[in-house]
Amino acid sequence: MTAVYGLIGKHIGGSFSREFFAGKFAAEGVDAEYRNFELDHIGELTRMRAENPGLRGFNVTSPYKERVIAYLDAVDPSAARIGAVNCVRVGTDGRLTGYNTDAPGFRDSLLTFIGTLRPRALVLGTGGAASAVVHALGEIGIEYSTVSRTAGKGPLTYNDLSPDIIRHHLLIINATPLGMGPLTDLAPAIPYEALGGEHMLFDLIYNPPETLFLARGRERGARTCNGYDMLVNQAEASWEIWNR
Ligand code: NAP
Repeated sequence: MTAVYGLIGKHIGGSFSREFFAGKFAAEGVDAEYRNFELDHIGELTRMRAENPGLRGFNVTSPYKERVIAYLDAVDPSAARIGAVNCVRVGTDGRLTGYNTDAPGFRDSLLTFIGTLRPRALVLGTGGAASAVVHALGEIGIEYSTVSRTAGKGPLTYNDLSPDIIRHHLLIINATPLGMGPLTDLAPAIPYEALGGEHMLFDLIYNPPETLFLARGRERGARTCNGYDMLVNQAEASWEIWNR
C-alpha cells in the first residue's frame, strides 16, 4: 500500500507542505503521497483516519495545533510543555503520538542567523508559535520577554515598548500573524525608530518573504531573517519522526 502523509488544518489550499513533500518524494524515489486534509472541525480527524488506512503521519496547522492533542494516544514531552503539536506519527499499531517540530525548526534557523551571539530577545505574540519559540530560546540560553496586546498575558504589552527597551533587546521575533496575507500592510506596533545596525529581526512569516516588520528593520540597518528556513526545517524534522 502506498504510504500516505498529509496536513490537517483549515484554508490550507496554498500550503507549502504538499509541494515540499511531493518534490522530496520525487527526488528521493519515495513511494508515498502527501495530501491536504481540510477539516471543518477537529472531530473529522476520526473519519479522515478511517478513510486513509495507509496514513503513516501528518502535520497539523492552524487552528488545530492545540485541539489535536485530545485525539492523541501520547505526546512527546517537549510538545506537551509547548502545548502545541504540529507533527503526528501513526505507529504500526495505529497509535498516534504528537510532536512539535516548529521548536527545533525555529532553533536551527535562528542559530544559523545569530551564530554565536546570544542577544536578549523580545517575542511578539503569545500563541502556539510563540510557545515553540520561547521553548527553543530557553534551550539555547537566550533571555527573553514576550509582548502581548493584553496586559497579564506576557510581561510586556506594546504600550510598554519604550525606545530604551528596544535598544536593550537586540533580537526581536515576530510570532504574530501581522504581515502575512491578508494582513500584509500591517506590522507589530513597536517603536521602529529605535532600531539600528545591531538589531536582528526574525519573522516566522515566510510569505511574503519580506514583511513590513522586516522591511522597517532593514531600512534602519537591522539584519533580518524570515520563516522560510524554519518551515523547511520543521518539515524535514517531521519526515525523520515518521521514519523512526
Ligand atoms: P495565532 O495563534 O493566530 O497568533 C499568535 C499571537 O499573535 C496571538 O496569540 C496574539 O497574541 C498575537 N496576535 C494575533 N492577532 C494579532 C493582531 N491582529 N495584532 C497583534 N497581535 C496579534 O498564530 P500562531 O499559530 O501562533 O502563528 C503565528 C505566526 O507564525 C503566523 O504568521 C504563522 O504563519 C507563523 N508560523 C510560521 C511557522 C514557520 O514554520 N515558519 C511555523 C508556525 C507558525 P496576543 O493576543 O498576546 O497579542
